[in-house]
Amino acid sequence: MGSSKYEVVIGLEVHVQLTTQTKIFCGCSTRFGSAPNSQTCPVCLGLPGALPVLNRKVVEYAIRTGLATHCAIAPRSVFARKNYFYPDLPKGYQISQFELPICEHGHLEIETEDGGPKTIGITRIHMEEDAGKLLHGEGPEAGSSSFVDLNRACTPLLEIVSEPDMRSSDEAIAYLKKLHQIVMYLGVCDGNLEEGSFRCDANVSIRPWGQKEFGTRAELKNINSFRFIKQAIDYEVERQADILDDGGKVVQETRLFDSVTGMTRSMRGKEEAHDYRYFPDPDLVPLVVSPEWVEQVRQELPELPEAKVARFIREFGIPRYDAEVLSADRAMAEYYDATVARHGNGKLCANWVMGEVQRRLNEDGVAISDSPVTPELLAALLGRIDDNTISGKIAKTVFEEMWRSGDAPDKIIEEKGLKQVTDTGAIEQIIDEVIAANLDQVEEYRGGKDKVFGFFVGQVMKASKGKANPAAVNEMLKKKLQG
Ligand SMILES: [Zn+2]
Repeated sequence: MGSSKYEVVIGLEVHVQLTTQTKIFCGCSTRFGSAPNSQTCPVCLGLPGALPVLNRKVVEYAIRTGLATHCAIAPRSVFARKNYFYPDLPKGYQISQFELPICEHGHLEIETEDGGPKTIGITRIHMEEDAGKLLHGEGPEAGSSSFVDLNRACTPLLEIVSEPDMRSSDEAIAYLKKLHQIVMYLGVCDGNLEEGSFRCDANVSIRPWGQKEFGTRAELKNINSFRFIKQAIDYEVERQADILDDGGKVVQETRLFDSVTGMTRSMRGKEEAHDYRYFPDPDLVPLVVSPEWVEQVRQELPELPEAKVARFIREFGIPRYDAEVLSADRAMAEYYDATVARHGNGKLCANWVMGEVQRRLNEDGVAISDSPVTPELLAALLGRIDDNTISGKIAKTVFEEMWRSGDAPDKIIEEKGLKQVTDTGAIEQIIDEVIAANLDQVEEYRGGKDKVFGFFVGQVMKASKGKANPAAVNEMLKKKLQG
C-alpha cells in the first residue's frame, strides 16, 4: 500500500458526557438505564413555551475542564441553536455554542512513539445538550418499528475540539487516553466508552509530504473503543492513499466504522456549519463568568496526572514507570499516597499496590475505593515486614487473609501463629535436622557446588513453614555448612 508516501493529518472531536445529577436545561435526572421516557419534562420534550434554565454545575465542569487543558475561559459566551431535523431531537434544534464558546486556545502534551513530548492544540470546548436515542426493532413491534427514548435528550455534554495536530493513529490514541484520564481525574465524566460517556469523531486526511494545504478530510463517527478508533483511522488512511495513488480524489463525507469488518463506509456527504443555520438562542441570556468564579474553580482543581507522576518520582523516589502506573487512575494514586503517608517506604508501597493489591482487585473485579484492605491496614502489614515480625513471603499469606476477613494484620499474625522465628536456637535446631537429612548435598556444597546453598535455604524455610527469619537462616547456614 502507498500510505507511506503521504503525511497523515488527524483532528479529534470528543463528546464528554458530564456526571451532573440533572440535565443541562431542566431538572430531570441523567441516570443511565431507566425505563424509556421516564426522565423527561416539558423542557427536554421540547413542548411549546417551555423555557430552558442553565445548570450551574455544567458551567463549573466546563471551566474545570478548560483550566485543566490550559484553555482561556471566556468571560462571556453564548448558546446557539443548531437547526436540523431528526426524530430523536424533539425541538428541531440542538442547543449548543457556536461563535462564542466557553473555552478556547488550550493544549495537551502527549508522549509520541519516538519518546519525545508533543503539544496538541485544543481549539475550543463548548457546552451542549445531547439528543435522545432511537431504538430500532426493539419492544412490542420488533422488526417493523423504531421507538424514541428521550431520557438522554438534554443530557449535558462538552465537545472538546482539537487542532489537526496529530500525525498518526498512535498520536491520536495517546491524545484521547490523556484527555480521558484528565476528565476522569476532574470527576466531570465517568469515562465509560461503551455506554457512550466519552465518544470520539475523528477527522482524517492525508497529503503528499511537504505539501502545506490539508487534503480533503473524512469524518469518522461514533467509535466506542480506543482499539476501534485506531483501526478506523488506519483503515481510513490506507483507503485514502489508494484513492490518491489511483489518481482519484477523496470526497469530503461522514463515514461510519464497522467494527466487524474493520472498514469504514460512507454515511452521508459532509455538512457545513452554514447548513445548520446557527443563531443565538433567544431563550437563554449570554453566559457571564466572573474572574472570581474561574479563580475559585482553579483553586479547587485536583492534582492532575502529570503533576502526580512528577511528585511521586521526586518525593517517593520511585521509577517513572511505577509513578505512571500508579497515577493512571486517581483512586489508585490516592490509595498509594495514603499508604506511603503511613508507611514511608515509597518503593515497597509501590510494589505492593501494583502487585498484590492490584492482582486481588482484578481477580474480584473490585474498585480500589472498595478494597477491603485499606491503606491503613496495608501500611500496618508492611510495618510488620520492617520490624521482622514476618517475612515478605508470609506477608502475602497475611494479606490474603486480610483481604478475606478485613481483619488487621496483627490479629491474623497472632491467631495463625505466623510470627517469624528469630530465636537462633530454634533455627539452629532446624538447620541441624536439615543437614543431617541431606549429607550428600553437604558433600557437594563442600566440594565447591555453591548452587546447593539455595537448596538448603529452601529446605530450612519449608521446615519452618516459612516463618524462619531469612537473614538469620542465611547467616547460620553458611557457618554450619562450612563445618
Ligand atoms: Zn427535562
